[in-house]
Amino acid sequence: MSRRKDNVALVCDIGELAGLFEKSVNLDDFLQNAASIVAYHMKAAVCSIYIYDAEERMLILTANQGLNPDAVGRVRLKPGEGLVGTAFEWQRPILEARANRNPRFKFVPGTDEERYEAFLAVPIVRGLAPLGVLVVQDPVPDYFDDNDARALATIAAQLATTIDNAKLLMGLRDRQAASADADAGPSDLRYIKGAAASGGHAHGRAVVLGVFEEQRPSRPSTLADFRRALERTESQLAELQRAMEERLADVASMIFSAHLLMVKDTEFSGQMTALIENGLAPEAAVAKVVGEYVRIFSASPNARLREKVQDVRDLGRRLVQNLREGPETTPDYRGCVLIAGELMASDIVKLAAQRAEGLLLIGGGVTAHVSILARSLRLPVVVAEDRRLFAVPAGRPILIDGDQGTAFIDPPEDLVRKYAELSAVRAEAERLGAECPEVATTIDGERVHVFANINLLSEIAVARKMNAGGIGLYRSEFPFLVRNDFLAEEEQYLIYRRILDGMGGRPVVFRTLDIGGDKMLADYPWVHEANPALGLRAIRFSLRNEATFAQQIRALLRAGAGADLRIMFPLVASVEEFARAREAVARCARDLGAEGIDHNPCPRLGVMVEVPAAVEMADELAREADFLSIGSNDLVQYLLAVDRTNEHVSDLYVAHHPAVLRAMKRATDAAIARGKPISLCGQMASDPRMLPFLLGIGIRTLSVEVRQIPALHKAIAAIRADDARRKADALVRMGRAGDIEAALGV
Ligand code: PEP
Ligand code: MG
Repeated sequence: MSRRKDNVALVCDIGELAGLFEKSVNLDDFLQNAASIVAYHMKAAVCSIYIYDAEERMLILTANQGLNPDAVGRVRLKPGEGLVGTAFEWQRPILEARANRNPRFKFVPGTDEERYEAFLAVPIVRGLAPLGVLVVQDPVPDYFDDNDARALATIAAQLATTIDNAKLLMGLRDRQAASADADAGPSDLRYIKGAAASGGHAHGRAVVLGVFEEQRPSRPSTLADFRRALERTESQLAELQRAMEERLADVASMIFSAHLLMVKDTEFSGQMTALIENGLAPEAAVAKVVGEYVRIFSASPNARLREKVQDVRDLGRRLVQNLREGPETTPDYRGCVLIAGELMASDIVKLAAQRAEGLLLIGGGVTAHVSILARSLRLPVVVAEDRRLFAVPAGRPILIDGDQGTAFIDPPEDLVRKYAELSAVRAEAERLGAECPEVATTIDGERVHVFANINLLSEIAVARKMNAGGIGLYRSEFPFLVRNDFLAEEEQYLIYRRILDGMGGRPVVFRTLDIGGDKMLADYPWVHEANPALGLRAIRFSLRNEATFAQQIRALLRAGAGADLRIMFPLVASVEEFARAREAVARCARDLGAEGIDHNPCPRLGVMVEVPAAVEMADELAREADFLSIGSNDLVQYLLAVDRTNEHVSDLYVAHHPAVLRAMKRATDAAIARGKPISLCGQMASDPRMLPFLLGIGIRTLSVEVRQIPALHKAIAAIRADDARRKADALVRMGRAGDIEAALGV
């Protein structure tokens, strides 16, 4: 026994395992070498390593010393099956003097395993993640003892780290090999189930952002072609910028300025010219210089510079497209579905401006605001995890469905046809939106106000077309987020004025800045918060930054002169916060008065109910404020402690959770008791299945994304308010989400 323990100490030397890893060609080879070493040092007749395949939920015999080598890869056990599966499931060592007499023991078929009496298995665990089981066996009964179990557990722990790292590194090598072989593409990749981020569907040619397309021009291009391409690029960008100033004035001011500056920069184009003069093909010269800029920008400690990476790539692509100008090429993204990694809000606007059909975003999750913005721009977006998508060859047909969160590569004809038909049905539904009355009515004659949530000025026209009763939520942070900067009072004033004018006297609720959390501006001090969802966000940010807050309030009061101006504060958690915000409004009104500037001296002031504390304080908040509005997107997040942007817990983000329904009823009861209006402006308002509950608790104003207005009118018209009241009473008494689902048909 002591002989073994000395040797075990040797195995415990991490260097030996690390050295083994270096010599191994892949993970299986490494594990096979590890099994031999463990068997040798433990003087055990058999050593086996089982690795857990999380997708298949099976333990697979991956390496073995001492049994029939053919068993490797073939023996598969469920967690809990046999002694090995039990050690895995219980996450405990199992030590047996005579395992072959234990009825739980499962012999490996095709081996003489029955003759091995002594058995010792320890789980291989990395952190909280079970990775597999390490097993030793010997024909001598009672061969292993507790010391061996401890030693084997130590080895398993070291193996765990190495296995985990090996998986990562070898995965990385595989990925590099895959991207080196990008032309071949992921031929087996046809259907991807991702997450839906922005509705609608798009069909077009695949373009992976940042990868220059492979096809060669019909004739070799020259320096003269490059100069022409440069000029063409500059005038296209100037035109694009002009069009944006008209279409998206609020967010697009100088949005292509970085592109324009670069294309004019003689250093940037000069480097390309020099390379071409030295014999490099113009396409290659563009790719080389762009690659170098991308490398420098990406590595910059300055967030503002890192932001420009996508701009340089975009510019590079445009230059190359212009070099090849012909009937089959367009400099923009018309007819293209883009595949990209992480993008910023401004990138989304730029890609939409360049007529991208849709976007497949890979990895990294999507902030709530990137998807809200994409929806406002009517750009379908699907988020997927599979990084092999980066290797989809340029030009390959691709179809994405932003409602279902799915993507199809090389979609079959009949599928493309089905989606085209769906588009026609949608267009018809939108046309019908124009016929919606200003106020919706239930079967029994209760009136319900249907308002629009908007984020961009361009949505005002659609809101009018849909006959929205007003704007229930204008997310004022969007121009800030897209421009990645704070806007001056005057710029804000112009935007707010256009919204009020555009709505022609119908009410508009302006929400003050909701930045922080996952709605970040680059390069501002609070980006380093460890827990931004609970950090300096929304009203907390505004109250901490008085000058910024005052600029916004002044702009709102000025824009709202003579109008029905309503201002709402996000993420309020106490009466004091609301009182301080109200005081800031009063101060700004006094200052404007003293300066003799026309303004609205007493707008209606509201509170968003989106944190549990606001529900608790709903009575006091309703007493102080002029109106309440439930922000269910955040209320669900904070009540259930589930990040609304984290796909790993998206199944726990249950909007119809009993806690959410009860909280909403309490807030609504409080507002009604105080005679104050209460609305709902979170996404829940557009779910027809929730409608009986919402109307049943007494909510009479719903604010939804513009295009959901017609469907909401239709759903309201099919409901009896007195039935809804009875249903809501029953729902708030239910203690399980499952019962609520059954009652609502969720
Ligand atoms: C909400 O939280 O429900 C809401 C409407 O605001 P946002 O989605 O912008 O956080
Ligand atoms: Mg919110």
